Formats: sequence, structure tokens, C-alpha cells
Amino acid sequence: MNDRPEDLLLAHYDRALELHGDTPQGALWPNARDRQTRYDVMLDLLEGAPPGRLLLCDLGCGTGELLTRIRERRLERVDYVGVDRSQRALALARAKFPGERFVELDITAPGVDLSVLDCDYLVANGLFTVRHVVSPAQMREFLDSTIRAAWPHVRRGLAFNVMSRHVDWERDDLYHASMDDMAALLHGLAGRHVRLRADYGLYEFSCYAWRDTLHADVQAPTAAPRGELASAPGRVRAAAPASDPQRMAKSAQDAGNAGLRPIPVLRPQLPKAGALLPYLQRIDDHRIYSNFGPLATEFEQRLASLLGAPGRGVVAASSGTAALLAAVLAAAGRADPAWAYALIPSYTFVATAVAVQECGFVPWLADVSADDWMLDPDALARTDLSRVGVVIPVSAYGRPVPQAPWLRFRERTGIPVVIDGAAGLEAALAAPGRAIGAIPVMFSLHATKSLSSGEGGCVACTEPELLERIGQALNFGFHHSRDSRGPSTNGKLSEYHAAVGLADLDAWPAKQAAFARVHAAYDAAFDAAGLSGRSHGAPLICSSYRLLECRDLAEVNRVQDVLRAAAIDYRHWYGLGLRRQSWFADTPGHPLPVTDALAPRLLGLPMAPDLDALSVVRVVAAVAQALGAGR
Ligand SMILES: *Cc1c(COP(=O)(O)O)cnc(C)c1O
Repeated sequence: MNDRPEDLLLAHYDRALELHGDTPQGALWPNARDRQTRYDVMLDLLEGAPPGRLLLCDLGCGTGELLTRIRERRLERVDYVGVDRSQRALALARAKFPGERFVELDITAPGVDLSVLDCDYLVANGLFTVRHVVSPAQMREFLDSTIRAAWPHVRRGLAFNVMSRHVDWERDDLYHASMDDMAALLHGLAGRHVRLRADYGLYEFSCYAWRDTLHADVQAPTAAPRGELASAPGRVRAAAPASDPQRMAKSAQDAGNAGLRPIPVLRPQLPKAGALLPYLQRIDDHRIYSNFGPLATEFEQRLASLLGAPGRGVVAASSGTAALLAAVLAAAGRADPAWAYALIPSYTFVATAVAVQECGFVPWLADVSADDWMLDPDALARTDLSRVGVVIPVSAYGRPVPQAPWLRFRERTGIPVVIDGAAGLEAALAAPGRAIGAIPVMFSLHATKSLSSGEGGCVACTEPELLERIGQALNFGFHHSRDSRGPSTNGKLSEYHAAVGLADLDAWPAKQAAFARVHAAYDAAFDAAGLSGRSHGAPLICSSYRLLECRDLAEVNRVQDVLRAAAIDYRHWYGLGLRRQSWFADTPGHPLPVTDALAPRLLGLPMAPDLDALSVVRVVAAVAQALGAGR
């Protein structure tokens, strides 16, 4: 059998081991520190693993030193199997780790049984870095056939490393691979779930491929590979609700033990520098930096035409809060003793209360409806509204707020209305005819909202005269002159922020589609866990939110505990209602039974346009564990 390149490599490794013993040099590594780095980089493959035990296959394990590292790092939920061709190396490994599994396998031998490779994750660390006298083409062939043979046995992902070509010189005893070539191989296996890494200071790079385990794991459990893995005891299915609280606590602790990557609650993604550059160059040319310059004007016009309010139907602002403040000043003026109160929902982000307070109003809190978490205009019109100078319905998490019932409310009561539609831009874009009208609507363009200029906001309104006054209120009360003619602030959108907004608009269809894919993944995962109806996402609410609705406080507490332990961030986006904010604790208004019951139960879950399927599975598995534990 001495005609295969693999045999030459095996002989080379065995000689080194004979010469240097069980040391880094004995495995043809230059030193222990770099070897450690490689182990850690390889183990990053486990990032995003769902809770529970996982089986790691170490292909080309040599004397099993990766297992030493796994134990040092206390990755206690990792089950290990080492696979190698070298009997000499395996004998040393078995002596070091009695009771662990080390298996001899010649992976590229014809007709060999590969079921020993069945695992959740497979790493091949250093298997393709040394080529000795083997030609690069032969190495490429060995790598390709090895990875392709292993992939069908891998349930979640695999990783391997090769030497880089981006070095001062390529050593002719090492295999320097093309990144593009490796990328092609990985993409062919794993579609869009691959990663190349060259950020750890060595002359090599690491390649990762993950299965879209959302589908393998949650949607189609039968798609799991054959072999021992499917029936291995002790495995916790990702989305299966654990019925045993002890096991739940254990796997949450395991998640921490494995050093799993924390999942932030929201990871906004705005246009990259390259996409901003053409707009920034226009600013350089114009030398206009603010004051409704050409970029802000173009941004307003593009938003207006998308919202079916052509002409100047939109005024841009430096933030949603500034836009709301200006709209209140323009529609209702500042508060006075006869009109002291601004009626706002008790369940909203504090910005609503801050804006009306800045206009001199005392916020007056009204409870929201349990059905849609928003003010009910008909119910409100029947309450005592004396001394209410303005009413601010809020689009809860971006739910649509139609104009018609609020126009009727305004007509019936004579009270000005301004809609805080901060997160509602998508709902408005979907049905502009219902959302845009004579009542001004504010949209926030903050980074946490789906369409964003970093900081920014705007008001849409079909009444040109009112819109003029809103623009005036955003610019010191100036109107075609430097004479201040009304209550105002400085809330103009700078050209730099307009540049970000324009670039985000350019990318908007792709961004919204990306969000939609993540929401679809959440829908599928919640369905598979038997929890459909318990979470809310786009298109009902704004794409940048994903909400879990708990039934009671006990559930909320369990969910929070499990999420914390699993390093998954969550947030009560609107706090526990306005009256629970220190500054607004004494705010007058109606009794608030719905807000008090609802606010703690609506929990924001992780969301990002590029949130990967594994993270979604991790989140839903944790939620399912917490909810299942109480059944
Ligand atoms: C985001 C938000 C705001 C504030 O918008 P900014 O652009 O951050 O000033 C106001 N109201 C609600 C309901 C929001 O969600």
C-alpha cells in the first residue's frame, strides 16, 4: 500500500513521534503555545451549539492532546472520540486517557466503514498542514476526499486548518492552500454557513462549515445521520422541552461551561463604509453639512414617495424623539394651564413621555388594550378629556396605527393627535394609504429600528401647512427667514446621517429580506417546539423585534433564568410600563391593570438581520426548556 500519498504522510508522522515522543515536535508542531492556540481556534467550532451533550470527533487525533485541552477548559458537556491511522500515536493516547475512545481508521481507504465518524462536530487539526514530500495537488486531493467523506457523518459542523498563501514565503514541506479554493469546497458542502479565519496570529487559516441545523434538528428530526449518534443516550434534542428542571439547570450550566458565544438581544447592522462613500463624497463636493441639505432632502423625498406622500410629505429629523417633539409643538403648541396634559399610553418607550414633557405637558397615562397593546380611540373618547392638550397613540413595537379611527377621535373631541409610529415604518410602507394622512406620524430611524440612519427620525403628514410648521419647529422656529416664529428646538437631520439613511434605503429590500428569513426561522423553531402563538415577529411587528409572550410571572422568571444561564440576552424593551421608571413614577392618569400585567410578560428575544440559524435554535431551545419545565 505504499503508493498512496497518505502513506508517506503517516510514515513521516510516525518517524517524528519516534524521534520526539509525545511532544509538539513529535506531532510536527513547532511549539506548545501555537498548538494550544490551534486547539482553541478549532474548538470555536462549538460556538452556537444548542444545550445538552455533544459528540466531538477529533480526526487525526494523534496522541489525543486536544482532549487534554478540552479537559483544561472544563468543556464538560463534550463527549470525545479520537480517530487516527497511526497505531503508535493511538497507543500513547489510550495510555494517557484510559476509558476514552480512540479508534484506528484509514479514512481514504476504499470501502472503509466510516460510521465511527458519526458525531455532532468534527475537527481535523493539522491533518492537512504538513505535506512533506507529497505534491500540493495530491494534498488537495487528500483534503478534498477526506472532508467529503467525513461531512455526511457530521451532524452540526466541521473545522480544519491549512497553511496560508498570504505569507512571506511558502514552505515546500507544508500545504499552503488558496482561501478561495477552500471557500468553494466549504460552500459546496454547507451553502451559506461557512467561515474562514486567519485572525489568530499564525501562518495558517481555519475553515469551518456548519449545517443549517435548524432544519436538521428542529424541522426534520429524521434527517439525523445514521449510526450510534442518533440513539446515543443522554442527548438532549435541541427543541425538546426538558421535563426535568434539574436537567434543565444542568444543560444551562453546560452552556456556560462550554464558553458558548453570548447572543446579544439586538445586533443592528447598518451600511458599511464602502456603501457610504459615494454619499460622503457628495457632501465633500457640496460643502453643505446640515440644514435640510441635498442629502437630507433626497432622503425625505425617497421616504415620501415610498409612503405614497409625494411632494414634501416627509420631514427628516435628528431623532425620533426630536421629530415627535416638533410634531407636538406644530400640532398642539406648548402646554398651558388650560391644556396641561398630554395623554399617552402607559406602555411605550420612555421617549414618548420625554417628548411631551419637553413641550411642557404633564404626561397623562392611559392603559392599553390587551388585544393589541395600544390605545383604543373609541374607549378613550368616552373618558374625561378636559385639560388634555394632545393625544399620542403609539405604535406598539411597530404595529400598524390606522389614521381613520384617530381622525374620527380628533373630530369628535377637538383634541390634536400626533402618532408616535416610531417602530412602525414597515407597517406604514406595507399599507401607506391607511397609515399616512392628516394626522402627523413620527418614525424613528434609530439603529435599533429596522430602517436606520444611525440616529434619526422623520414625520410624515399629508397636510403641507402642518408639515411646514413641523420643519420650522425642528429649526429654531425659522421659516424662510432668521426670525424665530414659534416654539421650537434644533432637531435637524445632518447630511452625514442622511448619507447613512440613503445607503440603508439602497439596501432596504435585502435587509428586510434578511430580517424576514430570521423571523421565518423563529416561526419554524417555535412551531417545532409546540410553541407557536407564543412569540411575535414581522410582519405583525417591526422586523428588529422578536417578542416572547409569557403566560405569567412564574414563566417570565424561568425564561429569564434559563436565558441568562445560556448566555442569551433579552430585554423588556418598554420596561415594565412608564410608571415604573423613576422619573415618571408619579405620573398621573388612569388605573393601569393591562399594562401592569402585560409589560413583564413581553420579553424581547435576540434579533439581527444576520442572526444565524444555530443561534435561533439555541434561543428557542432555551425558551422551550424553560416553558416545558413548568408544565
Ligand atoms: C424608538 C422609539 C422612540 C424614539 O426614537 P429615537 O429615534 O430613539 O429618538 C420613540 N417611541 C417609541 C415607541 C420608540 O420605540
